Parts: sequence; C-alpha cells; structure tokens
Amino acid sequence: MCGIVGFTGRENALPILIKGLYSLEYRGYDSAGIAAFTKEGLRVVKTRGRIANLEEKIREVGCDMECTCGIGHTRWATHGEPSDRNSHPHLGGKGKVAVVHNGIIENYKELRERLEAHGYEFKSETDTETVAHLVDYLHTGKQEDLAKTVLAAVQRLRGSYALGVVSMDNTQEIVAARRGNPLVIGIGEGENMIASDITAIISRTRKFIILDDNEVAIVRPDEVIVMNEFGDKVEKEVQTVNWDMSAAEKGGYQHFMLKEIMEQPKAVTDTVTPRIKNNAVCFEDNGLTDERLRDIENIHIIGCGSALHAGMVGKRVIEAMCRIRCSAEVASEFRYENPIIGKKDMCIVISQSGETADTLAAMRLAKQAGAFTIAIVNVVSSTIAREADGVLYTWAGPEIAVATTKAYSAQLAALYLISVKIARVRGLISIGDERALCAELQRLPECVTEALKCQPDMQRIATLYANRPSVFFLGRGLDYAAALEASLKLKEISYIHSEAYAAGELKHGTISLIEDGTLVVALATQPALFEKTVSNIREVVARGASVVLVTTDDFTGDESVCQHIIRLPKCLYEFSASLSIIPMQLFAYYVAVERNCDVDKPRNLAKSVTVE
Ligand code: GLU
Repeated sequence: MCGIVGFTGRENALPILIKGLYSLEYRGYDSAGIAAFTKEGLRVVKTRGRIANLEEKIREVGCDMECTCGIGHTRWATHGEPSDRNSHPHLGGKGKVAVVHNGIIENYKELRERLEAHGYEFKSETDTETVAHLVDYLHTGKQEDLAKTVLAAVQRLRGSYALGVVSMDNTQEIVAARRGNPLVIGIGEGENMIASDITAIISRTRKFIILDDNEVAIVRPDEVIVMNEFGDKVEKEVQTVNWDMSAAEKGGYQHFMLKEIMEQPKAVTDTVTPRIKNNAVCFEDNGLTDERLRDIENIHIIGCGSALHAGMVGKRVIEAMCRIRCSAEVASEFRYENPIIGKKDMCIVISQSGETADTLAAMRLAKQAGAFTIAIVNVVSSTIAREADGVLYTWAGPEIAVATTKAYSAQLAALYLISVKIARVRGLISIGDERALCAELQRLPECVTEALKCQPDMQRIATLYANRPSVFFLGRGLDYAAALEASLKLKEISYIHSEAYAAGELKHGTISLIEDGTLVVALATQPALFEKTVSNIREVVARGASVVLVTTDDFTGDESVCQHIIRLPKCLYEFSASLSIIPMQLFAYYVAVERNCDVDKPRNLAKSVTVE
C-alpha cells in the first residue's frame, strides 16, 4: 500500500525516482508526487491520479527538476480525500523540509492543534503534514542534525509510519524512519536509495538493508548510517536480491495478472519441491519441528482477503486429514475479539507481502498468548516472516498484479504440506499414505498446467457474460471456500457485484435475487457432494439462471442442467481447490479485460495493506 522511493547520488535523480514510482505502482495508489533539490531550491510537484499525470505536471510547471537527490511517493489516502493538496510530499514550516509517509499517525489531531498554536499553517487534511511541521519545529538547522530531529519527532508519534525526510540544510541527504511499515535501503556505488520494497531499487542495485521498527537511517551518496531509537549506531546486514528483473516484467503478456496466472504451475512446484525429501514432507530449519506439531490442540488460521480464503481451504483440508479443530479467521476481527488462544494452539498466519497490518497484529497477539506461530508469506525477510516462530515461504516470486493468483496457489500448496506433515507426525496416516500424498503434491503442478488449458473456454464464456450486473458463485465444502475466492477475484478487478454462497444456504434468503439471466457459477469437485450441488443448480435454473458448472472428469450427473461445463483434470479431492480456482481466475481476468478495467491496478485497492 502506497510507495516511497528516494535517491541520492551523482546522476539526475528525477528519472530514477519516476521509474521507482512506476515499479511501486502495483502496491496501489491514488496520487503521486516528488520533492527534489533543484537549482531553484526544494521543489515539490504532486498530483492526484496516476504517475503519468505527475510526469505531465512536471512538464507543465516547466521548472527544471534536474537534481541528484529527491524523494517520491505514491499515496493511498487514509486521511483526507485523494487530491493535489493532500498528495505527498508535504512541506514543513516555510518549506525547508519535505516529508513522504506511508502509514497512519494516530495522534495527528492533537499534534496538529499544538503545532497550529505555534503558528504552523496546515495546507492539507492529512495526518502526514503534522510530521512535516513537527520536524521543522524540532529542527535546529545544524547540518548533521536532521536525523536527530527525526528521531525526536518520531518519539512523539503514535501509529505507524515509513518516512522519507529531506531538508534544505543538506541537499544530498535523505533521512528514513520506520515503525510498522516496510522500508528498505538500496546500497549502490556512490549512490543509495530508500524504497518501500526492492522492486523500486533492483534496476540500480541488488544490495539492500531492511530497516527495522524504530530505526532511523541517514542515507547519503557514499554512506548509510542506521541508528536505533536511542540514537546509537547499529550494524545492519547487507542482503542481496536473489531474483532478477524479468520476474518483475510482463514478458510479453498484456497484463501481469495473466502472466502470474500462467506462472502458477511453477509457483506450486517451487513451493512444494524443496519440502519433499524421500517421499516425505520435510521442514528443515524453519522452526516447524515434529515435536511442535505433535502437541497442537487447536489451529487458528489467520489472514485477510485471498489469504483468508486460502486459510478456509486449509481449514477444511487440515480438519479432514488431521482431525484437529481448525478455524479460519479474519485478522481484523480476531485481533479485537479477545480470542480464546491456548498455549498448545498453533496459529498459521498467511500474508503475501508479510506486512499486512491486521495479520501482523493478530500474530503478535497469538504469540503473546503463548501460541506457536507459523507464517506463510511470499516476501522474504518481511516483518511477519521475521517475527513468526516458524516460516514457510511461498516461492511464488514477486507478484505485481494487485489481485493475487500465484501467491494464493502457493499458499494452498504450503497449507497442504503442513496438513500432510501434521497428519503424519500425529500418526493419522502411515508412511505409505504420506508417500502417496507427496506424490499427489508433486503431481499438482502438472494438473494446474492441464487446468490452464480451459483458457480459451473461459475467455469465450467471459465475453458472453461480461455485462451481467451480478454473479453468484456456489459450492459446498472445499468448493465453497474456492467460490469465495472466485467471487473476490471477479469483484476486485471487474467491479461486478458478486456473491459466494454455500450451495445449500442459497435458499435461506439469497435465492430471491436470482432472476431471468442471472449468472450462477457452480463449483462441484467433490464426488460425494455432486448430487447435492446439482439439486441446488436445478433450484436456480428453475428461476431463470444461466449456469456455468466447474467440475471434474468424474462428474456423471445431468449436464443438461447447465449452459457451460468446465471439466478439471483428476487430482486428489483434498487438493481440488488448487484446480477449481484456475478457470475462475481466468474468468475474472477476461471479464475485466472485456469491460476495459485496469486489470493490474484495480480502483481503490492496494497490493500490500499496511494500515489496519
Ligand atoms: N496517512 C497518510 C495520508 O493519508 C499516508 C497514506 C499512505 O500510506 O499513502 O496521506
């Protein structure tokens, strides 16, 4: 959510900042801006809308923005509407300091009142502007002092922030600070950068430092100094990015989303393969020891959005395979409902970015209550990954489209691995069963590849129904969990209203919404429930619905109940949600394309939700 980028070096910073902002676009934003030290002093250009609007505005204002140090921002509004005025950077005092911020300052009102009493005039409705004025107020103006000033300022802030601050006193220096929102420092040769994530620095350097909570960094062209909250210098590990640029580029596809849909066999392979050794699930060096897993009493799976939906699939698979009570819970609810967490409980937290604010808070709560926490995350060294007792990385590679596809599929694979492992260590399955399950898991990428062959059918079906005002997704058990994700995909990127319903639940109210021509997509991959679901299909057909049935090769029921039938390849029923979601992702994608929607950057949405 929102992006920060900063550059200090010898080359012209402007194109570097703009390029950095473009690579952070996928995180979601509504406005963009930059502040740069030009010949004419500290200049800020900012605008509501896309980065292209910002580039246009820079051309329009006609100022020479050439500079060797600057900061840029894409905003995802939390305080004040998306507008030119509320866009970042914000200037402090008489324009001596500029600030970009990601997060929420909770005590901004009281700070604002106090600063106004000191004569500061606010130009925006944002919480961020208080930080800019506060830094100005505390700034003594000595050359080396900006970092100390920022340190003093952040101690007065409540809430969360990643900050980039520059001051006229030292036009080659950026001060960065972080609490609760991600920030990395790119280490180059004679130049350094700050950014919300490594996609914005990778075109210039592969070396980076992760700033930790409460740290403040001074970033200059030839040095980076990181301090803790007491102002003491801390040594930081310099890490190296292990993926290349092509992973963050479209590679000939029209959209990142389609590319990422097609990358799912690889994402599943990369997540599963390193964890299966000698026909058994093997978790090495990630904190998930057999002893830990044997004694679990309850499992809480926690996530938001698609990660929650992956958790709902996981709940059903784990309960069926391991006979442990398992719940899938909404992180933002869990954290405030005084949850019952036992010391022998395990919490599986799922987050693509590893920075999801609600999920992180829920995990901290569970840890405090004594539960054992396992993180399923995609971004290496993200906050959730670092704080969990054990981590199972999904090796999906960088996911750029806001609507998740391959990270979701990799999350499912990670949950299957956990399930098989727990079932085995608790003696619920034999070595032979484990071997068979591992073989099925290794075969899963092939099945996903096979399922992807429905692409032309889904494109055709999407074209036929792209103008329907509303779509219903039905399923039972695992198919219900998959239906929830199918419905979310469609809503997210095509803006069509849709609902997912447990098939048997429809007649308890919702069926009143079914009328002539309503599109109903029924998922039925569990043979034991085929007949039940067919009965539910008949109920909607009798009321005029058009039906797309997504099922398996095993389906022998009456095909005439539906207009379209998509048959998925055979896989273990427990893993079927990995296949049924494929046509649904493609359906959502092609409907969105048909409706000319901004597929990779849907309105109002952010990739990594770092505010609660
Ligand atoms: N809370 C700040 C604002 O509304 C920052 C939002 C963001 O993270 O982009 O401007």
